[in-house]
Amino acid sequence: MVMTYDSLFVGGGWVAPASDRRIEVVNATTEESLGSVPEAGEADVDRAVAAARQAFDDSPWATASPVERGDVLNRFADALEKRGEQLTRAVSLQNGMPLSLSEQFEGGYAVALLRYYAALATSTEFEERRPSPLGFDTLIRRSPVGVVGAIVPWNYPVVLAVTKIAPALAAGCTVVIKPSPGTVLDSFLLAEAAEEAGVPPGVLNWVPGGRELGAYLVSHPGVDKIAFTGSTAAGRLIGERCGAMLRPVSLELGGKSAAVILDDADLNKVTEGLFFASLANNGQTCMACTRILAPRSRYDEVVESLAGWLGGLQVGDPLEPSTQVGPLASAEHRERVEGFIAKGRAEGARLVLGGGRPAGLERGWFVQPTLFADVDNASTIARQEIFGPVLSVIAYDGDEDAVRIANDSEYGLGGSVWSADSERATSVARSVQTGTVGVNGYVIDLNAPFGGVKASGIGREFGPEALAGYLQLKSIYLPA
Ligand code: NAD
Repeated sequence: MVMTYDSLFVGGGWVAPASDRRIEVVNATTEESLGSVPEAGEADVDRAVAAARQAFDDSPWATASPVERGDVLNRFADALEKRGEQLTRAVSLQNGMPLSLSEQFEGGYAVALLRYYAALATSTEFEERRPSPLGFDTLIRRSPVGVVGAIVPWNYPVVLAVTKIAPALAAGCTVVIKPSPGTVLDSFLLAEAAEEAGVPPGVLNWVPGGRELGAYLVSHPGVDKIAFTGSTAAGRLIGERCGAMLRPVSLELGGKSAAVILDDADLNKVTEGLFFASLANNGQTCMACTRILAPRSRYDEVVESLAGWLGGLQVGDPLEPSTQVGPLASAEHRERVEGFIAKGRAEGARLVLGGGRPAGLERGWFVQPTLFADVDNASTIARQEIFGPVLSVIAYDGDEDAVRIANDSEYGLGGSVWSADSERATSVARSVQTGTVGVNGYVIDLNAPFGGVKASGIGREFGPEALAGYLQLKSIYLPA
């Protein structure tokens, strides 16, 4: 699959880019070219924001009925579904995501999100007449915030873009999306689907480019809200800028989540469920539980069980249906992950498994599934997000100590608690400072708010809560 594009999707059509700069995309498994696309410049962002502005201010879009907006979202879902195979393969080729996961998330989940928000648009009350105890009524109106600048990372490029597009469109907003240069090909497929679905001109616009272009979009005077998913470092800069501008912003950032294995847990069930919770997308997942908290009374048993499980994982070509762990997304990212592995060893953690590159996979940015034991929660590998298939086992003494260690982190995005007694696990889960946590498993519910606390972010995606993030409130007092 080689994909080449020469124009950008802006204002409802394909337009020539302002410059001749291009983004080259490379296959994470073969290191061969996957194609190239134009890199948008500031003039393209100006044009995209102007188109989104016009579609919001002067077209019937923002005042279209929720049913009409729902119809557009449903048609977009159909057009995306039709492109499912091409889209999911494009993602796996670019960032190494095993195809089975890509099909589930980048394909199925993205389509489901569009349909979910189509339905939610039609069932949401955008105006409500509320009686006041002072003896009159007030009309509470929820109107779209306006033009949204959406910035997404490379790890789940389709679903994270749709996570913003779907509630924004359901609310009546218009969107300018800046995909990550590392996974930009899928964004052109999304744009083609939007075109086929008849999304009104200017409602969705794509401007592929790097962080400088993202920063330009964040500060653009024509934008009303920023929706960002990416690293905590970038999120801080964006939050600072939006703070200075008093521009609403949602920030979905990094994580260093804990899987708390309670002392009564069935370890076979833990390893069955831990794969998605800890290693989905080769560990390139924001909410991954990469700190494994093990009771000291069963510590050796836990380490042995995890080593057996990790050692048996199929590492290889992400397009092979049997592959569980594919390559990392880029050479630079693998270097970063290998740097963390070296740091773990240097700081005294015990390398139980992996730590190197898998034999027989000389091409592609592969890293062996890696397990460290005897990890101190204060060490670098326990504090920083590695974003690769690297797990650290940390010992604790008693449930309270487990919660203390789980909460002793800058982050709070995911988490999981494992026990034979789900009530006990739920009780521990209540005490973990995080935005999301699973009991004896981890799943992401599109009908429930997802997001982080502490350095993992501000705001929530999914569920009616995400729709609320694209709406602003107005009270119209009716005293007479
Ligand atoms: P990144 O922060 O480097 O880049 C993310 C996006 O922001 C890219 O499109 C990039 O070009 C852009 N960008 C970077 N700096 C910017 C700036 N100063 N202003 C505007 N735009 C800027 O992150 P990444 O390496 O692409 O993605 C991995 C990170 O994303 C991880 O930290 C991961 O945890 C996080 N993430 C979080 C969630 C979540 O829901 N919380 C989901 C997926 C990924």
